[in-house]
Amino acid sequence: MKYLYSGLVIILLISLTIPIDIKQITHSPLFNGTSAYSYLVDQCEFGPRPPGSDNLSLCRSMIVELLESFGWNITFQNFTYREVECVNIIATWNSQSNSPIIVGAHYDTRAPNIHDPGSGVGANDGASGVAVLLELADKLPNETRTAVEIVLFDAEDSGRINDWDYIQGSTYYVSQLSTERRRSIHAMVLTDMVGDINLELPRETSSTASLQNVIWSLADQLGYNNTFVDSYGGSILDDHRPFLDAGIPAVDLIQIPFPWYWHTLEDTPDKCSAYSLEIVGEVLEVFLVQESTDMSLFPLDPPILLIIGIVAIVTLSIPILYSQLKRR
Ligand SMILES: [Zn+2]
Repeated sequence: MKYLYSGLVIILLISLTIPIDIKQITHSPLFNGTSAYSYLVDQCEFGPRPPGSDNLSLCRSMIVELLESFGWNITFQNFTYREVECVNIIATWNSQSNSPIIVGAHYDTRAPNIHDPGSGVGANDGASGVAVLLELADKLPNETRTAVEIVLFDAEDSGRINDWDYIQGSTYYVSQLSTERRRSIHAMVLTDMVGDINLELPRETSSTASLQNVIWSLADQLGYNNTFVDSYGGSILDDHRPFLDAGIPAVDLIQIPFPWYWHTLEDTPDKCSAYSLEIVGEVLEVFLVQESTDMSLFPLDPPILLIIGIVAIVTLSIPILYSQLKRR
């Protein structure tokens, strides 16, 4: 029993002393919030953009044209979900096929169909995440781009409409990864609802803590701890989930609780700001530049059952140890 207890104490001490990876910022970000905001408005001008709609198809063409003008190679990943043709957009640099970092956002918006009076333009929910990635695609240094793959997911946001589920584009994307490719991905970063004027991003609780810590630490150093707040929001079903399920470290940057206009006609560009997009963009730019030079691995969170087990063993062993000591 004595050895068991000593062992547990050692494990506990080691886990408490694992250093939190604090990276000092050396790169000055070039990300421009005004430019990102114009990409947000451009997407909204197509109107509601549900999967399979002409609006989404036109918006996709604009996104692709922009990415190509910044020098990225585009491949389309087509899939059919409930008889609707869906398309993920994948952008790589120099046709690089094993970039260690994936940045993603969904480019569809929630709407039963584009003629439904309840269909909004998804300025924050949809357009904001894409806008940040488009501006990054333009401003990332060339040497960083090789390390990055940009994926824009279709069919994220139609859950519970006509028996649809959420996150279909990311689910399909991950299902198509080879084992080798899956192992080569160090991190997946998702941007979703990052444009609100009063942006607050608490930590999404299903995200990989080691990856989240690095991003929050960079945000803090950049002076953005009022936006990347050091508190915990809820766990969100979002496009990072299939990556986590496949054992890939992933983090969701998302406003929690969702803004009041979420999934309504009021989700319009005036609710968003260039400054909020700039904060998220700068943090991501610095993260990507640093990770592409100093490639670190982000350990996955230990399974919750393991943590509960360790806590239970430690708690139970204390009275036993105490009685043993007392007997001596
Ligand atoms: Zn949504």
